[in-house]
Amino acid sequence: MNINDESSTDYFLNPGLQTPRINKRVRSEGEHSDDCETVIIPPEKISLVINNSNQQQQASTTQRNEYPPITIEFKSAHSKTDRKLIEELIKEWRIKNNKNIDIIGRFGYKNVLLVFPRNFSTLDDLLETGRWPDRIAGSNYVIKYPKILPATYSLIIHDFQSTWNEDETTKELQEKCVTLRKLTRLVTREGRPMNTVRTDFISTQAVKQLLNQGEIEINCTKLRIRPYFSPIKINKCRKCFKHPGYGDFPAYSLEYPTGSGDRNVRPEYDHFTSQCTSLQLCFRCGQHHPLKEGCSNEIKCVNCQQHHYSGHSSCPVVQQKRKQLSEQHQKPQKKHENVDQMIMAMSESINQQLSSFTSTITSQITEVSKKLNIFNDRIQNLEQQIDKSIMPAISELSKPV
Ligand SMILES: [Zn+2]
Ligand SMILES: [Zn+2]
Ligand SMILES: [Zn+2]
Repeated sequence: MNINDESSTDYFLNPGLQTPRINKRVRSEGEHSDDCETVIIPPEKISLVINNSNQQQQASTTQRNEYPPITIEFKSAHSKTDRKLIEELIKEWRIKNNKNIDIIGRFGYKNVLLVFPRNFSTLDDLLETGRWPDRIAGSNYVIKYPKILPATYSLIIHDFQSTWNEDETTKELQEKCVTLRKLTRLVTREGRPMNTVRTDFISTQAVKQLLNQGEIEINCTKLRIRPYFSPIKINKCRKCFKHPGYGDFPAYSLEYPTGSGDRNVRPEYDHFTSQCTSLQLCFRCGQHHPLKEGCSNEIKCVNCQQHHYSGHSSCPVVQQKRKQLSEQHQKPQKKHENVDQMIMAMSESINQQLSSFTSTITSQITEVSKKLNIFNDRIQNLEQQIDKSIMPAISELSKPV
């Protein structure tokens, strides 16, 4: 069983393993704001990819959390187990809010309690500070919320002018919407600020409501909004800083599929950190040297030899990987397009059949009605003949002789 240290989303962690990386990694992810406006995959596709990767690892028993953990730091010493603390939290939550929460949890780094929600509604509840009980199992505590929430907690605002200040606007908007957390201006791959901001909330309900409205008012102007999709994160080996190759399997796999000598994987990139046979290189200059004293060499990317850190979003290798990945993600869409075309063709042929059927029926009905008319005429004739000749004859005959 591997620890998922290469995952695209930091909170897909194995709850059975304790890793000090968790808090650190969640924090560092937020610093990659230069990666914001890159290739985007709608969340439903990401989950599709994750499902595929699950199928590839049927032998693996790794459990993953889809939602980021909330960190509970106890102020005073306690002797409770993590299982007991979670039990107590669920109980006290029910007493305070008259509502159940669906959570699991474990101790993490420095004995803090990591609380993993198991659905969006629970995550929404946990993000509301006012709902938490005063104490958990008799102990005071501090809550730390995850810095990065799932993409459904954010939306994109368009036409946010370059002269407008994100922090100021955040404060103004917070007066009307308490669940708004932060506005972050997106930048292009070249680092140029855009007229687009990502807006983070602590409630999926607020995001849904705004998306339904389709606009938000800022500085007396109604601005267009759209859903936010997370950018694809390009993994890299943390020892040699090469990027793993992408073949038929997604970047979200915890492990390579069985038989890592996959034809689609370029051999020199065919590893994750735990499998790396290289010496630990310097992140700054890409060379192998003692790291204790820091590095004063020129910044150099090991993948393209240009002057940026390895894995930077401006790196042509990263951009190539992103392109490759986004093309892979478009495959299911193409299938959808095919299905759409099939349905279109089928409905067209059904329409044609229907219209020919209708015209046949119409002509048959016309025939029948023509025949009916003729029949009616004949009956009328008969009636006339009866009236004219037979009836007088009968009345003649019935006269008393
Ligand atoms: Zn490596
Ligand atoms: Zn160096
Ligand atoms: Zn590069």
